[in-house]
Amino acid sequence: MLLQYVSNLGLLSFGALVLFFLRITLDVSRHAIVSKVVIGCTFGAMSVMVVNVPLSIPNGATFDTRAGPAILSAFYAGPVAGLLTAAIGAIARYQVGGPAVVGGILSFFFYAGAGWAAGYYLLSVKRRLPTLRDLVAISAVGTLLAVPALFIGSGIAFGLSLLAVAWPYLLIGNISGVVVLGLTTREVLRAKQNQDALSDAVITADLARASAQLALWQYDRAMDRVTLDEAGLALYGLDPETFSGSYAAWRERIVEEDRPALDAAIASARRTGAAFDVTVRVRQDRDWPRWVRATGQFRLEGGRPGDEAIGVHSDITDLRQLEADLRQTAHEASEKSRNLEVTLSSMKHGVAVLDKDGCLVLVNQRALDLFDMPRDVAAVGRHYTSFLRYHREHGNFHLDPDEAMRRIWERVGRGEIYRTRMQLTPDRVIAVTVAPMPDGGWVETHEDITEQERAAAQLREAAERDGLTGLANRAAFDQALEEAVRRGAAGASGEALMLVDLNDFKTVNDSYGHSLGDAVLKRVAAILDRVAGERHLAARLGGDEFAILFRPGTQGDDRPEAQARRVIDEIARTHVFDGLRVKLGVSIGIAAITPDCRSRAEIMTRADSALYKIKSQREIGFREFDKTIEREITRRKRLEGKLLTAAKAETFALHYQPIIDLAHDRVVGHEALLRWQCPNGTMVPPSEFIPIAEDLGTIDDLGLWVLETAVKEAMHWPADVCVSVNVSPRQLGKDMFVGAVERVLAKWQLDPARLEFEITENVLIERNDATLTEIQALRALGTRIALDDFGTGFSSLSYLHRFPLDKIKIDRSFVSRITSDHTSASIVSTIANLARNIGLDTTAEGIETQEQKAFLALAGCTNGQGFLIGRPQAEPLLPEALIHEPARR
Ligand code: C2E
Ligand code: MG
Ligand code: MG
Repeated sequence: MLLQYVSNLGLLSFGALVLFFLRITLDVSRHAIVSKVVIGCTFGAMSVMVVNVPLSIPNGATFDTRAGPAILSAFYAGPVAGLLTAAIGAIARYQVGGPAVVGGILSFFFYAGAGWAAGYYLLSVKRRLPTLRDLVAISAVGTLLAVPALFIGSGIAFGLSLLAVAWPYLLIGNISGVVVLGLTTREVLRAKQNQDALSDAVITADLARASAQLALWQYDRAMDRVTLDEAGLALYGLDPETFSGSYAAWRERIVEEDRPALDAAIASARRTGAAFDVTVRVRQDRDWPRWVRATGQFRLEGGRPGDEAIGVHSDITDLRQLEADLRQTAHEASEKSRNLEVTLSSMKHGVAVLDKDGCLVLVNQRALDLFDMPRDVAAVGRHYTSFLRYHREHGNFHLDPDEAMRRIWERVGRGEIYRTRMQLTPDRVIAVTVAPMPDGGWVETHEDITEQERAAAQLREAAERDGLTGLANRAAFDQALEEAVRRGAAGASGEALMLVDLNDFKTVNDSYGHSLGDAVLKRVAAILDRVAGERHLAARLGGDEFAILFRPGTQGDDRPEAQARRVIDEIARTHVFDGLRVKLGVSIGIAAITPDCRSRAEIMTRADSALYKIKSQREIGFREFDKTIEREITRRKRLEGKLLTAAKAETFALHYQPIIDLAHDRVVGHEALLRWQCPNGTMVPPSEFIPIAEDLGTIDDLGLWVLETAVKEAMHWPADVCVSVNVSPRQLGKDMFVGAVERVLAKWQLDPARLEFEITENVLIERNDATLTEIQALRALGTRIALDDFGTGFSSLSYLHRFPLDKIKIDRSFVSRITSDHTSASIVSTIANLARNIGLDTTAEGIETQEQKAFLALAGCTNGQGFLIGRPQAEPLLPEALIHEPARR
């Protein structure tokens, strides 16, 4: 019986071996339907075998280990395999026949069902292979489940009697069958799983090696054999056809200098059993040598390194190149950063670089020094607002830091390069230039401009101040006036321009010397400055010309007239300078800056014409520009235009006024007086057009025409009748008049003694050396010089001996009063006397009455002229008795 049992179990084991063989050789996958069929059939075959070699048990019954194939087929391979095994087994059992055939057939299906349920639970749910205990439990449960089969077909009584006898066989037999077959099968599966895992690992390693470009290197020292895979052959540039495989042949490929290190590393690995890791250069036919990292280890045999080594070698040329590049870049970068550091620290500007978040990236020491900021405040990485806050705390910055930051971002965002200044306490100024960078940050440069600003302020101050008086100068005043005109144009501003002119300052200067002149100017400036106060602007425009820009207060209580009166009160009185009493006079022209005033020049002209007006009245006082003056200006402008285009011969004419010898009542000469008939027919008096011609510069031309016409005319007169020609101060001092006189005299052959030039006091007041030389030259030619209108101006007697004169013409303003005013009479007598004493002739102008003429004759005046004697007319009045035959040519 034991033998039967063993052979039944042996059959199972044989079946298991078949299964193992099938699995390995056919490599049938557990999940493929083919596999299920194969397993189902194999286990089915096992069932056939065990059913046919049953174990006889008491009661005429038999037992076999069918439970094993039926349970395990379903357990490992699922219901299909299980059913197949059960079906095959069932057919075999039916063939065997004997008692309890129905139960025997059905038991297959019960076992298969139990196996499938257990397989599902362990393999799919628990996902593990069965342990020994699992197999015991499965077979026990399967046996229990199959028990009902004993009763089917045999009846309850037979079944029970069978169970009573056979249960130990049943249980032990089934358990041992399932365990034997189950364990065998499990090992087969485990082996398969291991094999799969290994093959996966190999594939993964291959993939890894391929992607890392690793080459497999094997070395058998005893056989002197080096084996390389495809990648290895390529790595060492070896041809598989010609490579002998010896160590020397492989080593040959390595650059000679690197070979000793390689040999030493391999020898040491052989000795110690440790891995070697060496980098060598592999010779290349054309290219530079390639860098190879060779690693490997000798296999241990019996705890000691054996003769076989295995390793992986890889091409690290790119890595080496990268390392070299990195080293170079790092070197360059450090070089650059060192250069940058040196540059930054030696810069006289402060530099700070801020990133796109406004955090400090870089700052040089100079920047810290300029802003007097400690290193820890300006640490790299700190936000810009923290610096602003720091400066705000130190009183250097007054804006809200966040607001300031917002403005910076705005401008940086626009890509705008801008310059701003920071006023540091106590008095340092730093110019900050902000230049945005493409990455959104910005670079700041800082420059200490304290000295520059101070110098600029001083220059500005100097440029705007008058050196002598300290008042604003012309340039500064012009600018202020310009702005006032702009304000005026925008609407009535109430501002006004006051031009202040000292009367006869020239004489003061000449009489008392320049230092006193300067003292006078300073005194006047101080007065104007005081009167102007804070609100108004006082300036010296040049010489003795001053100005005040009158700016009314909000109250509107003060008027420019009141101001002008104050100025006059303070200036026009006797001042004492170093004990010297000097009486000053002043004239003021005022022009309101009104919206119709278009330019600074225009307001200047207006104030100037008002000043001119008051000056021409020879009074101390002020005059405001008004409609009358405006009309005069308009008329003057009109005349200017006409005068410029006037054709001399047609529109100009000379009238002659006789001058007589008072003692003998005889015509001794004629004064040529210019007449102009304006193109519209009106006669314009010389007092009006001569100043215009002087200003226009046409006086030279006109004066020469007068000279030549007068000389030509005089040639018709008796040889002892002279001609007097008026000469404007503007004609002199240009070094051309004397030459012209010479030419005219030569041309008309007039005796120079018959030609007299009348010059006004102004010529002498505005004296300069050139004018004096010219007057002397005129006298040297033989012509005579008369001082016209004596008594109207400053009438300094000092002129009389300082200048080479021949005659004084006493102004008609004296003459007209001699019969009514005692003083005038005395003055005229005195002048006549004085002149006679110093050898000068005198002509009294403007004799209109016999009384005047008689008085003047008595007073000792040499000559007389006036309407009484004869009015100026085109045809000179030559009393018949006195006319001599003209020396006509
Ligand atoms: P002036 O040289 O003092 O000339 C005398 C002026 O007095 C003349 O005025 C003459 O008409 C006027 N006159 C003469 N006798 C009497 C009189 O009894 N009563 C009054 N009420 N007036 C008298 P006129 O011709 O208007 O000339 C004015 C000034 O124009 C001249 O003053 C002279 O300074 C200037 N002038 C005239 N012709 C010329 C010229 O050719 N060249 C220059 N540079 N100036 C000239
Ligand atoms: Mg004259
Ligand atoms: Mg005169």
